[in-house]
Amino acid sequence: MKIGVLALQGSFAEHRAVLAALGVESAEVRLPNHLDRLDGLIIPGGESTTMGKLAVAYGLMDPLREFGARKPIWGTCAGAILLSKDARREQPLLGLMDIRVERNAFGPQAASFEADLDCPAVCNGSGPFRAVFIRAPVIEHAGSGVEVLARLEDGRIVAARQGRWLATSFHPELTGDARFHRYFIGLI
Ligand code: GLN
Repeated sequence: MKIGVLALQGSFAEHRAVLAALGVESAEVRLPNHLDRLDGLIIPGGESTTMGKLAVAYGLMDPLREFGARKPIWGTCAGAILLSKDARREQPLLGLMDIRVERNAFGPQAASFEADLDCPAVCNGSGPFRAVFIRAPVIEHAGSGVEVLARLEDGRIVAARQGRWLATSFHPELTGDARFHRYFIGLI
């Protein structure tokens, strides 16, 4: 198995480190042909407008959509925004997942925080997942085909899956807890 990590910008190296610790081969994706022979793709956190503009400049938007039509994609934070159909403003989106996101839903960078999440489908009774939110989005609407995987205590959705696509508002690559990575590998 080989998992690609979109490496235009953001925390791609951290995702690759988690995959390496799990013994999974990974590759950095910057150009369309880098998607060849991959089994899945992670779109990391970072800044979604910047990442989208770079993806347009490198001719990656349609190849990423075609990849997502066949293979699993997981978007974390800015990556979740790129996966969405609607971010309530003009910016390049892949438009794959039937979710509407609110960017920067918790305010500025300084309002970043951590929270323990209950995520039964992912954590399987192994305890809550400590999640790091950095200028994070929330999923403010999820379509009927979307399974909600985790919510904050106030009910806002922060992890969801639609078939082979996974979106998380937070950064599971930063805490040394590989349960979401294992869950994604399970989708592959
Ligand atoms: N605030 C960023 C955006 O809207 C996402 C932040 C992140 O990926 N940690 O694109």
